[in-house]
Amino acid sequence: MARRKPEKQTEISKERIRLLLGKAREADGPMANRYASLAKKMAMRFNTRLERSQKRQICPRCKAYLSPGARTVRTSAARQAVVATCKACGHSVRLPYAKEKAAAKRKRMGNRKPKL
Ligand SMILES: [Zn+2]
Repeated sequence: MARRKPEKQTEISKERIRLLLGKAREADGPMANRYASLAKKMAMRFNTRLERSQKRQICPRCKAYLSPGARTVRTSAARQAVVATCKACGHSVRLPYAKEKAAAKRKRMGNRKPKL
């Protein structure tokens, strides 16, 4: 079984991750990257998951803060994904939207189950 940090500590780390990413948004350049990498480090140390939106703000390779200016965002229709490329290291992340698209279709079709 995985060892976990006390709940109180994980709560504090979640709060601090949120604050660090807020700081990163306000700052720019090396300080923003520093805040982002600290947030990532904290998430790893305290076994807390970054929320989806938080995860997308940090480059998985170089841990830079991916502000709208620090990444290139394109859509790939063939792969049904948004491809975000970090301008600092060139690493690209695919963010698939197939599930969202299917959910939207289900919603349009009135939540009917597909006939098999
Ligand atoms: Zn990067």
